[in-house]
This record gives sequence, structure tokens and C-alpha cells, in this order.
Amino acid sequence: MAQTTPNHTQTVSGWAAHDSSGKVTPYTFKRRENGVNDVTIEILYCGICHTDLHHARNDWGITMYPVVPGHEIIGVITKVGSNAKGFNEGDRVGVGCLAATCLNCEFCNTGQENYCEQLQFTYNGIFWDGSITYGGYSNMLVADYRYVVHIPANLAMDAAAPLLCAGITVFSPLKDHNLVDSPGKRIGVVGLGGLGHMAVKFGKAFGHHVTVISTSPSKETEAKQRLGADDFVLSTNPKQMQAARRTLDFILDTVSGNHALLPILEMLKVTGTLFIVGAPDKPLELPSFPLIFGKRSVKGGIIGGIRETQEMLDVCGKHNITCDIELIQPDQINEAMDRLSRNDVRYRFVIDIAGNSNTAN
Ligand SMILES: [Zn+2]
Ligand SMILES: [Zn+2]
Repeated sequence: MAQTTPNHTQTVSGWAAHDSSGKVTPYTFKRRENGVNDVTIEILYCGICHTDLHHARNDWGITMYPVVPGHEIIGVITKVGSNAKGFNEGDRVGVGCLAATCLNCEFCNTGQENYCEQLQFTYNGIFWDGSITYGGYSNMLVADYRYVVHIPANLAMDAAAPLLCAGITVFSPLKDHNLVDSPGKRIGVVGLGGLGHMAVKFGKAFGHHVTVISTSPSKETEAKQRLGADDFVLSTNPKQMQAARRTLDFILDTVSGNHALLPILEMLKVTGTLFIVGAPDKPLELPSFPLIFGKRSVKGGIIGGIRETQEMLDVCGKHNITCDIELIQPDQINEAMDRLSRNDVRYRFVIDIAGNSNTAN
């Protein structure tokens, strides 16, 4: 069954979904031996990303069951291959969405391996040896060192886990638009979930004026008091949206449900950029008038490269930025996924894989 190559000899305990019900149950499977380019990681924490839910339930029709989800992985190195430069036993490390790329294209050569055409993901991917990849809902991972990053010593490991996907997904567009080192811009964040709350934290840490744009009035206090946002605009209130026309330099849209782009585009200044990181199932309607009359741009992007992910973690270490999380035990994964499907989480579930917090309950 799960064993697809001869050197997959290591038995691992994990949690997998087996069909489109998405129900996650304990699952024992095999991982490869630690090769010369590999590090073996004892997994301590793993975040639950919306993508995990989509794969568990086969929402995108691409799931290879059984699927062991999880690409916000944090743990400690227990074994180091001879080529795995810069890594030592005992290092606190993280693994995000990437398991393998071609290592030789223009993107791999410039630290943008997340745009490599041969990219394979940490779970539901096909590794170089032909085996299906299994993610972080498990107690151990063997990862090629080129896709492993270091976690700064001052960051809590549980709250740092979601940085590996949610964090880099919003950091990369900010970096791309020169918003990490040049303060004083006006930034909008559409949606206040796992991605959105990180965007607010980064925006404030980098010295910008941050406006949260949301459909839920209840998020206003949360956005301003807990996360430090400067403004809150209720997107269902046309007056508020109208008053915010042409006020923002850059907007990060993190919403994965269907929504209208027109009023959001109108909030951008002339030459402003709307950057989309949410992934609605159906195509969004793109109106041309706000683009033409405001010389505005609409772009998108997926996570970030490995070098950039390390840079993001180092920046988080410097500013002491982590995610706001709800820590759960592995037997609560299904309940957490149900709540996540209703966006009922502040702001990310993280699984205590090794049971380190058991005594705290
Ligand atoms: Zn993710
Ligand atoms: Zn490549």
C-alpha cells in the first residue's frame, strides 16, 4: 500500500483522511531512510491550513488517499545527512509547503522555487523517488535540507508553526512590493482569518497604516484592539467603502469565498496594487473600469521561496511575531477542521503532535 520504494523502511505514526468525508483517523505508514541530502525531524507541532481541509475532503478533485495533511511543520532534527550543510542534530526547524523542485530552472536558481514547474508539495505530492508525500500530521518527517528552515530561538514553536504557510504567504507580497523596509504606506487587508491576521501583524511591525476590510462587524474590536489595526471598513457598508475610495497604496486580499472586487479596487490610490492570496473556488469578476481609470494592478502569488521563508522567520524573530493560535490535541483534529470550515478559529489551529501541552489541560 503506502510503501512505494524499497528504502521506505521507517514506520511513522500519523493521522490521515481516507475518503471525501474528510474524517481524519490514526494512520501508520512508511517514510524513506534519511539520505545524504535529508534531515529527519521529530515533529512537535503542525498548523491546520485551509488547504489541508480542501485536500482531506477532495474539494479540488486531486487528492490521493490516504492523505496525511500538514504543511506548517515545526520540530527538532534527530538525524542529518552528510550533504545537509548548515543543519545539526537538535536544531529547531520548520518545513512548509515544498518537498521537491527541479533545482535547476530559472526559478530554482533564483530562490523562487515555489514557481518551479516541477514543484512537489509536502503532502499529496510525488517525491523524486516516486513515492507519495505525507505531511505533518505525523510524528516524524524526512525532508531534503534544501526545503528546511531554521526557527529563531525566541519564537514559541507552537505559535511559529503557521508562519511556514500563512506567514510566508502574506510576507512574500509585502516584500515584493517593497513594504518590509519602507514604512509609512497605507495598506488594506481583506479578510481577518489565518492569513489576514498575519498580514495585519506584519503591516504594523513594518510601520504602515493598516486598514482591515471585512464583512463581519464583530471583527472591528478584534482588528483594532487585539491586532493593532488603525482602521476598519465594513465591506457591506457602501458609505464606509465610498469614504475609503483612493486611500490605499496596496491591498492584500485573503478571502477564499466569492466576493466583489470592484469596491475593493476603488479603495486603491492611482497605481495601487491589489494582491490576491485567497483562492475562491469560482472565478472572480474583474471589472476593467477601476483598472483603467486608476492605472491599478491585480496580481497573485503562492507562498514564497525557501530563502525568503528563512528571511521571514528571521524578521519574525527580530520583531517577535508569531501567530495567534488555538492549540489542540491530535484527537481533536476533526472537530478543529469542522470549526475551520465555518471560519470559527482565532486564528489558526495548531496540533500538539508530541502531546507536550497535555499537562497544561
Ligand atoms: Zn497552507
Ligand atoms: Zn525548478
